[in-house]
Amino acid sequence: MPELPEVQAHAERLTESFAGDALKRFVPITFTALKTAVPAPDAAYGTPLDDVGRRGKYLLLEFGPTTFVVHLMQGGRLLVDEKQSAKPRGGQARFLFEDGRALLLTEAGTERRAGVWCVRTEGRLDAPPLDHLGPEADTIDAATLAARFAEFPMRLHGFLRDQKAIAGIGRRLANEICHRAKLSPFANTGKLGADGAEAVLAAMRDAIAEGLAYERTRPDMSSSADRPGSVHKRTGEPCPVCGDAIREVAYSSYTVSYCPTCQTGGKVLADNTTSKFLK
Ligand SMILES: [Zn+2]
Repeated sequence: MPELPEVQAHAERLTESFAGDALKRFVPITFTALKTAVPAPDAAYGTPLDDVGRRGKYLLLEFGPTTFVVHLMQGGRLLVDEKQSAKPRGGQARFLFEDGRALLLTEAGTERRAGVWCVRTEGRLDAPPLDHLGPEADTIDAATLAARFAEFPMRLHGFLRDQKAIAGIGRRLANEICHRAKLSPFANTGKLGADGAEAVLAAMRDAIAEGLAYERTRPDMSSSADRPGSVHKRTGEPCPVCGDAIREVAYSSYTVSYCPTCQTGGKVLADNTTSKFLK
């Protein structure tokens, strides 16, 4: 799934390419693409795009008083639509601009969870789907992070992926941040304290900066296999810091990857909540 660096760099590319172009029409291609009824998308017709911003993993296409909030979910992309075919493969919705260009929201696979919310720009951060998001991972400070840890006592890996706790991080960066911070992905955030918050904050800033620097070199959004990292999807490979083999705990929808030497004092993690079912 695209995370903060990928979405941020993509927002910058879209702004560069489309700012100033007026919206001609918004065309949902599937029934589930548009998640809102009011305001109607035509409120934005004829209005130039101010810019494309970001909140968490959402893209914000701002047309004056109206904003389209786009979530790419797992396999979604918002790309320049060269062909503008009647039935685009994986097509969810299309933004047609007055200069004849278009942006197409596509989603690979069959889940169809990517979507568009049309909201009023004023107060957009306090309305669904953005109202549930925690502080931004790239701008939160250590004191706020420590307070969030106390408010959301859970495994560090789960905290980082929980958009209500902190916004913008997903499965890949959660693995990379725990590794950089030299903390177990199963460490309880309720016990990390101020020192833990400092360590996680530094690791988070570095991991985001690395991802963003890479993503900004690209003409389009990377695939997950292209993204920089040390542990994510590298099970069995040597840790670039200490040489130990990267281990994993696999769940149905994600994998926790870590280095035992760097992160758990050599301990191999097993998940007590699921391992008893895995015999
Ligand atoms: Zn290591």
